[in-house]
Formats: sequence, C-alpha cells, structure tokens
Amino acid sequence: MNTCLQCKKDFDGRSNRKFCSVSCKNKYHNSKNREKEAKVVEINKILHKNWVTLHKLYDIYRSAPISMDVAEAHGYNKNYFTHIHNSPFGEKYTMIYDLGYKNHIDNQIQIIVID
Ligand SMILES: [Zn+2]
Repeated sequence: MNTCLQCKKDFDGRSNRKFCSVSCKNKYHNSKNREKEAKVVEINKILHKNWVTLHKLYDIYRSAPISMDVAEAHGYNKNYFTHIHNSPFGEKYTMIYDLGYKNHIDNQIQIIVID
C-alpha cells in the first residue's frame, strides 16, 4: 500500500509510486513551484521598491551626491540590486534596472540614469 504525497490517501500500485493520480501529482508539483516562485516575488518586491525610491530621490537630488543614510531613510535596501554597470571610463555603478548609483567615500552616492 502506498500513501499519496498530495491527498494522503492510501492507494495500490508499484511501491515507488508517490501519487494516487496524475491530478495529485500535478497539484503537488504546482504547489512546490509556487513556493519557489514566492521567493522570487518577494525579492522582486524589494527591487521594485528600491527602483521607485531611487527614482524619487533622483527627481529631488538629480546626480548631486547624497548620503546612503538618506536613501535608506526613504526605504532603500542597499543589499538588493540587479547588476553592476561598468562605464567606459572605468566607473562602477550599482544598478536597479535602468537606474543606478556610484559609491563615493563617506557613504555618499550619486544617482545616474543609464539610457
Ligand atoms: Zn492523491
């Protein structure tokens, strides 16, 4: 006797079968995938919030240097970004999609838009 991993009902069949039906098998795997996707959704939320925050700050300060503390006070989470952009002039920008910033000494950042 086997026990279905999805509906927990007992069923007959080969001992290595884990599901009583194709439907239970699909339900099980769909729910596993949803759990995996939930992590991506959570990180995307943080990235999106960072992007919105950086835009807001750019509207106010443009590319004037501001403190990372100011950005964080606005809800920016510096641990999350999409990629690093290396400019042709050897400068390194931390990017959130099309928007990023250059790190300066003393915790200052300078926001830039990459076209
Ligand atoms: Zn089942």
